[in-house]
Amino acid sequence: MPDDNITEVAVRAALAKFQDPETGRSIVQLEQVHALRLEGQRLTITLGLTTWAAPLWEATRAELAAHLSRQFPNLQVTVELAVHQRKPEKLGEIGLAAKSVIAVAAGKGGVGKSSVAAYLACGLRRAGCTVGLMDADVYGPSIPHLFGSHRQPEIYEDRIQPVVVEGIRLMSMGFLAPEGEAVIWRGPMLHTALTQFLRDTAWGELDYLIVDLPPGTGDVALSLSQLAPLTGAVIVCTPQVVALLDAVKAIAMFRKVSVDVLGMVENMSCFVCPDCHRRHDIFGSGGAKRRAAELDVPFLGEIPIYTELRLLGDEGKVAAAFEQPQARPYLEAICRNLVADLAARQRAHPTLPTLPILG
Ligand code: ADP
Repeated sequence: MPDDNITEVAVRAALAKFQDPETGRSIVQLEQVHALRLEGQRLTITLGLTTWAAPLWEATRAELAAHLSRQFPNLQVTVELAVHQRKPEKLGEIGLAAKSVIAVAAGKGGVGKSSVAAYLACGLRRAGCTVGLMDADVYGPSIPHLFGSHRQPEIYEDRIQPVVVEGIRLMSMGFLAPEGEAVIWRGPMLHTALTQFLRDTAWGELDYLIVDLPPGTGDVALSLSQLAPLTGAVIVCTPQVVALLDAVKAIAMFRKVSVDVLGMVENMSCFVCPDCHRRHDIFGSGGAKRRAAELDVPFLGEIPIYTELRLLGDEGKVAAAFEQPQARPYLEAICRNLVADLAARQRAHPTLPTLPILG
């Protein structure tokens, strides 16, 4: 078609080939083109995107502009963004209304699993997503401590109200049991406790429910996957060979119980000297990335060791990690990579039923 004769029909046909990141479906099919104005060689589009995809909004805007410019090289394209509402479907036997349920796991303790679960929750929330964080690490619940909140959750209309910190809806056994008190859990009790946690908490509608799993074991993941469909698990490891072997075992365990492994995060990957700013690979380097490639698992990113991150965790200010200029790019990259990988999966296997193509 000659470029100086662009019609709205042609533009809509081009838009119909562009996929929504959340569903992998056409933005025209799902009525996400909220407005379209074509005036000569100027096109202004308002694209509606869901808050689920918030970390990808800017990338999606650029992709759509590039997509249209490829089709219509002389067109001046402006893409504006607006929120597109799409409610989550109720999931599993407990009817959880969350679009993605992401378990954060590690082969062993002390690798920063709870911190990474908190960083994911904070990063997604900061981007604009609606986020819940469930501390299922019942043997050592550290989410209340990381967020500096030990408030007793309130009960309203028979449901436990999550404790909201920094806009994140938190629930943890740590809110219910006194700090420092050991709780012994046996299999069936654990299953009951998790069921109650998930079912009796007034989570509301969520884009993401991040679940901090206890280290090493498979039973909590298994219980969880029976209660609500897990989107998958993110495995946190440190670069030492021994820690990597534990991570490999954790991945094998998830695969055995048919939980998708969404990716690996390498925590404490290196130490950046605050004085000379040089990188020191204390535990070696590149191990997790190589292992992830061997296992065909996405590598979501690394987080160096920063004293500030440890201090913020200790002080109950984990969300302030995003105010740290050195750490922030690493933390944001992990959130973005995770959502981009989820979106790529949706593109490969769209979940919503196909609707008739309009326009
Ligand atoms: P896990 O859940 O695997 O047991 P935590 O998240 O509780 O581990 O982290 C263990 C300790 O390491 C905490 O004191 C935490 O603040 C600290 N920590 C985690 N990641 C980092 C990091 N990248 N840099 C510095 N300290 C970290």
